[in-house]
Amino acid sequence: MLPYSRQSIDQSDIDAVVAALKSDWLTTGPAVAEFERAFAESVGTHCAVSFCNGTAALHAAMFALGIGTNDEVIVPAMTFVATANCVLYQGGVPVFADVDPDTLLININDVERKITPRTKAIIAVDYAGQPADYRRLAVLAQKYGLAVVADACHSLGGSEKGVPVGSLADLTCFSMHPVKPITTAEGGMVTTNSTDLAQCLRRFRNHGIERDFRQREASGGYAYGMTDLGFNFRLSDLHAALGLSQLRKLRQFTERRTGIARLYRERLAPYAGIIDPLDLRDATVSSGHLFVVRCRTSAKANRDQIFRSLREMGIGVNVHYLPVYLHPYYREQFGHTEGLCPNAEAAYQEILSLPIYPDMEDVDVDYVCRELTSAAMSTQARAAA
Ligand SMILES: *Cc1c(COP(=O)(O)O)cnc(C)c1O
Repeated sequence: MLPYSRQSIDQSDIDAVVAALKSDWLTTGPAVAEFERAFAESVGTHCAVSFCNGTAALHAAMFALGIGTNDEVIVPAMTFVATANCVLYQGGVPVFADVDPDTLLININDVERKITPRTKAIIAVDYAGQPADYRRLAVLAQKYGLAVVADACHSLGGSEKGVPVGSLADLTCFSMHPVKPITTAEGGMVTTNSTDLAQCLRRFRNHGIERDFRQREASGGYAYGMTDLGFNFRLSDLHAALGLSQLRKLRQFTERRTGIARLYRERLAPYAGIIDPLDLRDATVSSGHLFVVRCRTSAKANRDQIFRSLREMGIGVNVHYLPVYLHPYYREQFGHTEGLCPNAEAAYQEILSLPIYPDMEDVDVDYVCRELTSAAMSTQARAAA
């Protein structure tokens, strides 16, 4: 089976984890500090604070911004559930904005329409790895006094006009799950230039305690104060050691993903109007996390037919995502129904994520394109008959 994405682990990763395992620290220690420094440097921010996963990173970002009961946070409909759930964890209300039909990135005009006196923040998602339009979001944020958070769980390695993802928003949240641009098995990171927000993030991941164990030990004292209701959301040194080793290969991973995406575009170009890759925004570089196409074969039944044919051929296609508000929980809790975000709903009928990961070979891309176009053509012929 060709998966839609997977980790790329080599001997240097294995050696790094084994070395950490033999060190004095297993939990949050020197490897975490070193990983955070290297991560901040790679995205060009003053601070990077690690977490046990991307969802915890998003949750912490909501905490650091002071999101509380009934505060509204605007999120795109087309994303993984964690982008909206993190608002609920803080007692806030996620408000869904539609996406642009060509890129599936949050639609800025719809964001502005959905701002109310209760709106506190916007979370943009770098869908598939491409940065959202943070310049326009910053203008809106300034006008209405809002914070901008990037859910960059797809986009480490991406950039806009040479500015890396991580530096484009007030707070940027990353995931290091195995399918993401680099992996720590499970892990997350928040980057920011604000030392105040970073301090708040650090407290939140450590039970709301102002000083962590290493700092106490270094100072020789025993006293500590819990000032907030935090969580144990820390990353371990084992995970951080893997992250450091992976981070060194980020550029190489991004280049390979970009190469695969280019090959897909070339191979699929003759099928324009039937199989259409998503558009790229000008001056942006995508991390190449997902390669998403729209199957323009009219009905959802047809996309599902193509999906099944490819799965039968050992091609691990996927659908990212059902608009979040159409999940049973959101329907029941908030009464959301079809019609809220028409572009996201229309896209959901047509999208398919094709395999893309650094170790994928060109012949695999050829195979996927052959099977995909043949399934699309026969589905179309059936629909026409
Ligand atoms: C993966 C992902 C998350 C959650 O990250 P975890 O590390 O799995 O908790 C959040 N948002 C988006 C868009 C993601 O793709």
